[in-house]
Amino acid sequence: MAPKNIVILGGSYGGLSTAHYLLKHALPVLPAQDPYQVIVVSTSSQAMCRQACPRAMISDDMFPQDKLFVNIPELFTQYPKDQFRFVHGAATRLDHVTRRITITLNARSNPTAETEVIEYHAIVIATGASTPSPLLGLNQDEVFLHEQWTEFRKALPTAKRIVIAGGGPAGIETAGELGEYLNGRSGWFSSKRAHPNVSITVVSSASQILPALRPAVAKKAEKFLADVGVTVLKNTRVKGVSPSDAGTRNITAKATVILDNGRVLDADIYIPAIGTTPNTGFLDPSLLSDDRRVKTNNTFRVEDAGLRIYAIGDVASNVQHPAVHVILNSIPVLCANLKRDLRLAAGVDPASVGEDRVFEEDTRTNQMVPIGQSKGVGEAMGFQLPSVLVWLVKGRDYWLWTTGMLWSGRQWVKEK
Ligand SMILES: Cc1cc2nc3c(=O)[nH]c(=O)nc-3n(C[C@H](O)[C@H](O)[C@H](O)COP(=O)(O)OP(=O)(O)OC[C@H]3O[C@@H](n4cnc5c(N)ncnc54)[C@H](O)[C@@H]3O)c2cc1C
Repeated sequence: MAPKNIVILGGSYGGLSTAHYLLKHALPVLPAQDPYQVIVVSTSSQAMCRQACPRAMISDDMFPQDKLFVNIPELFTQYPKDQFRFVHGAATRLDHVTRRITITLNARSNPTAETEVIEYHAIVIATGASTPSPLLGLNQDEVFLHEQWTEFRKALPTAKRIVIAGGGPAGIETAGELGEYLNGRSGWFSSKRAHPNVSITVVSSASQILPALRPAVAKKAEKFLADVGVTVLKNTRVKGVSPSDAGTRNITAKATVILDNGRVLDADIYIPAIGTTPNTGFLDPSLLSDDRRVKTNNTFRVEDAGLRIYAIGDVASNVQHPAVHVILNSIPVLCANLKRDLRLAAGVDPASVGEDRVFEEDTRTNQMVPIGQSKGVGEAMGFQLPSVLVWLVKGRDYWLWTTGMLWSGRQWVKEK
């Protein structure tokens, strides 16, 4: 008998945790008359600690590579063989009327077929968001990311001028890492590197960098950046860049960066760290909100798309501040509701499936921003954190210490 497919699109924080949680806590309690299979579809066959990109892009020596990248299929060999399948490819069209998902298969893993169409019983969209700079995540597969890092690393030793657009955490972390790596850190008695080897400039349209943090904390970050030779331009927007693909499709193109105040900066390397774009191109536009995320309610259902269709993580519209800790709080709620819907669809008595769970986001400021390998700023639950604590929790290895639990599913051993 063909299994009922529970398809999960995206093999990262949202997708892999959902898969583990369902395999551990939903499939075992579904009525035995039907077989079920969890199918994870992802453009990359490896999961990675995305937060580490600002440091990892510099050199493979920064992190143990076998912890930074993990093979997705291997993480699921712990479950019965017939309950899990991995498909290496990109979702290219979701037909929510006929309940089919079309996948363009990764040519390296699937030399004999180009596409696959899967009929789904339930589907979870966890395809996240892409960054304009391909250095900052799995915009395509892992091979592509390594190629981008290799090209960047070749250009780094001769770069004399680096311009980074964006004063949010990704831009500031990248500037701090590059500054410390290329310029070193000034000593106790000089507060600023007078003649940095490499001129690194962060351009931010806001009146302070790290706008989510209080102004005093942002000022402290600016001082730490100055210590590693980074200059910050605030209230300034990048109006254009020439060539237009510099930093995006051509990451090491020498670029002319045109600012809205008329100034022009020459860059040997230009890194756009401004915002993200939700990976939703395969969905019907009617399912998307104005910012192109999937319209998702606070039970994680995508109501406009029919029964048993859900979204989670950076791609979903129901969170204000997408982040890994928000996803970790979301997983038990999404999975409880999905399990409930699967049981109802299997004919389980409604009186015994429990109530829907509703997600409430903790909107207090929770943001830590390392600036190089020994300093950092941040706030947790609205409280300012000392630099040493930011280093201890995040700056040492950019959360790599947490991903073993997540990727292996040990985080979800107990139903929450
Ligand atoms: C540089 C940087 C630093 C960050 N630092 C932090 C931090 O310190 N703390 C924090 O909490 N958050 C941080 N974030 C945010 C955090 O990384 C995201 O919230 C998190 O990665 C979102 O997880 P996700 O599973 O929703 O999607 P993503 O991590 O974006 O993963 C999406 C997955 O879907 C796959 N995919 C994409 N399109 C398709 C498709 N069409 N079909 C199939 N698969 C597809 C991708 O390959 C990827 O595997 C950072 C983000 C960046 C860019």
